[in-house]
Amino acid sequence: MRFPLPMNLAAIGRSTVLLSLALPVVLAAQSAAPLRNAAGTITPADIQNRIGIIADDSMLGRDTPSPGLEKTAQYVADQFKRFGLKPGGENGTWFQRYSISGRRLDAAGSHVGFMIHGKHVHADLNRDARFAFGTVPAKEVMVPAVLVGGVFTPDDIRQLDVRGKAVLVVMDYSKPLPQNAFAVLQGLAAGGATGVVTLSNRDSATFGRMVGAAPAVRVGVDGLKDAVPPVVEVHQRAIGEILTETGIRLDEIRAAGTLVTRAIPDLQVGFGLKDEILNTASAPNTIGILEGSDPKLKNEYLVYSAHMDHVGVAGPNGTGGCSARGADSICNGADDDGSGTVGVIELAEAFTRPGARPRRSVIFMTVSGEEKGLYGSSYFASNPTVPLGQLVADLNIDMIGRNWPDTIVAIGKEHSDLGQTLNKVAGRHKNLNMVPIDDRWPEENFYFRSDHYNFARNGVPILFFFNGVHPDYHQVSDSPDKIDTDKMSRILQLLFYLGQDVANNPSRPKWNPESYEKIVIKRPAA
Ligand SMILES: [Zn+2]
Repeated sequence: MRFPLPMNLAAIGRSTVLLSLALPVVLAAQSAAPLRNAAGTITPADIQNRIGIIADDSMLGRDTPSPGLEKTAQYVADQFKRFGLKPGGENGTWFQRYSISGRRLDAAGSHVGFMIHGKHVHADLNRDARFAFGTVPAKEVMVPAVLVGGVFTPDDIRQLDVRGKAVLVVMDYSKPLPQNAFAVLQGLAAGGATGVVTLSNRDSATFGRMVGAAPAVRVGVDGLKDAVPPVVEVHQRAIGEILTETGIRLDEIRAAGTLVTRAIPDLQVGFGLKDEILNTASAPNTIGILEGSDPKLKNEYLVYSAHMDHVGVAGPNGTGGCSARGADSICNGADDDGSGTVGVIELAEAFTRPGARPRRSVIFMTVSGEEKGLYGSSYFASNPTVPLGQLVADLNIDMIGRNWPDTIVAIGKEHSDLGQTLNKVAGRHKNLNMVPIDDRWPEENFYFRSDHYNFARNGVPILFFFNGVHPDYHQVSDSPDKIDTDKMSRILQLLFYLGQDVANNPSRPKWNPESYEKIVIKRPAA
């Protein structure tokens, strides 16, 4: 589980839509005894042993990238191989690798161009503009502008058609920024804007200081679809001539008490940004596949996912707030997310036992870079090794080894009929003494804070299994000895039966239509 982002998306309102009670009848494809035996391979002793390996001090906290992460990825692959899974990574391997680069903007070589009715103005990044955040596009493209100003919410922004446009956001820096400013910018990114220009009225001294500051080093993953577009603050005085030509009065827009939007198709904006690559590294996802038994349904996949990375070693290079305690500086990440990683391995073992192969195929995936920014799952969603449309559900597991012994929070139950399926499966397996409960912390936006989000926003229904944080969260004390392996074994057995239901059911899990509208990214028709 990663730390909350400063630019978290807005909370999604909890839906009150009633789901249909007409459940499809699941064919009894398998008999109960082999399934019970398969589930029985998920034992507290196995879990203890595996967490002891993954969260051992020798793994040095599994930072992304790091040798400990590589060792963990290889361990998972070795287990998958032993169970007889098929490699599901790239080029017939168990791994999908992505590259991570540290980049710095070349301000002297960068500009934002504005063109209208034959007038052309460059806002240079070492004088009139500053790069706030986002991704530098590979080459400059000129796109038409849309202006947004006045008073608006992230919900207003979601309604706008900004795809392929430059969005000019009229900011008023003479007042405190609205709380949701980052959520608004994120909404523009999710809407597919090509770039965002915030039109600034900062005083010259402040703006000059910000422009003169050394450009920050940004670390990011290469090759992502839906990367956050560039967000550049441009001082309004640099483009006064352009604004006059459009007839836009910024003072009127700032004074407006409501949302102001205007398409300005005559105004073309180009983001001519350059950045230098300072360093590159790479990191793995580990992927194994169990082929389904049904000749047709085997082309659809249930995914079990968890992140195998953690925050590394405490200190300047550590991330996520982990600090040394005495001589101990290794952030073991036994619960976060050694528990989920071991969970995926144990589920793979159970599914490969005789009589447990379901009709659909099952993908077992352990990703990396979650703590740094959901890197591995973003990369998989951008470069899937099987078509995303063939993924019927993602059951993501992050932190299931601590807190209450008899309940597990399932986040996202209200967004698809997977919630109902889970309740039904739990009802059939009361002997596990494990009750799935609803999201207890909607204000924390956990729906957006682990890898399932990258599946959900690409249209794959998800459930997220999570037992909440605790005082050892992101500390050196998140160690293997504190894991409640008995609890974990019961959660994983429940997840095994849930996966059997999902992977054998003749129909795919269905989104709640309202949730689909809010969560899934709309893409233009190809
Ligand atoms: Zn974490």
